[in-house]
Amino acid sequence: MSENKNLFAIFGNPVEHSKSPQMQNAGLKEINFNGLYQKHHLEDGNKIKEVFLQSNYKGANITVPHKEFAYRNADEVRGIAQKIEAVNTYINENGKVIAYNTDAPGFIKAIESFGTVKNVLLLGAGGTAKAIALALQEKGIKVTVLNRSEGKLDFFKKENILAYSWDDFQAEDYDLVVNSTSAGLKDEYLPCDREILEPILKKASYAFDCVYGKITPFLALARENNCEIKDGEDMLLFQGLLAFELFTNTKADNSVLEAMRKGLRGE
Ligand code: NDP
Repeated sequence: MSENKNLFAIFGNPVEHSKSPQMQNAGLKEINFNGLYQKHHLEDGNKIKEVFLQSNYKGANITVPHKEFAYRNADEVRGIAQKIEAVNTYINENGKVIAYNTDAPGFIKAIESFGTVKNVLLLGAGGTAKAIALALQEKGIKVTVLNRSEGKLDFFKKENILAYSWDDFQAEDYDLVVNSTSAGLKDEYLPCDREILEPILKKASYAFDCVYGKITPFLALARENNCEIKDGEDMLLFQGLLAFELFTNTKADNSVLEAMRKGLRGE
């Protein structure tokens, strides 16, 4: 390995399953960037800044469960991440740790293929839902959050976003329904009761699932009800592409996007 190689990493716990290295390394190779992106298993999220700097990383991504720790530990947080209070990207800028959230704009780019979207029902209220809800709100797209339980709804209400639990939900018509819960990731659950979901999907045009690489029960039900469907692959790809641009200080073109997509798919 060349001594001057720029090092990048993804921090997570667990991190073994992450496809970010194969995606990012494919992008680095495409532009002949002298860099290496690797997995970094991190137990204690409070140490993330210290470990990032000691490891001499030029940039890093952060995944579950460290995004909030990474936000709190950064020297400076830029853009929409200030509101989301969670970050997935670190950049070493002259010894200072600068943090960004590329999940939010990555989601917006992923739904562009649907065309115009005006009113979104967002299922789930976890970390991903926060990024998606604020990204939609920033774009002037109306968003309503629906979650299984009450506990996490205050964050959204504080931002003037309509937020309901299953118990007090008042449905409207939505053109896009998004599953940002983990239902369907490792199980075959729907993200909310079929009795609530099916009439909504019947009237909707599009359905998006943050889970990628499979047709979840949510996407299957949406398809049955004639929605155009999309899984989370593009969201993962675009958050990665936006991080890549920050890592390399370049504007990624279509060849980089396609190289990263192939890398992600292991092609
Ligand atoms: P969190 O753990 O922060 O939040 C999980 C949310 O899902 C909570 O609102 C929880 O509700 C809800 N939930 C969990 N299980 C069920 C269920 N069986 N039925 C209904 N609701 C349920 O997770 P994240 O926000 O970090 O991630 C959510 C999903 O998004 C995951 O599947 C993850 O893999 C995916 N993801 C995809 C990305 C991509 O790039 N494609 C990027 C990031 C995440 P409650 O509050 O009641 O517990």
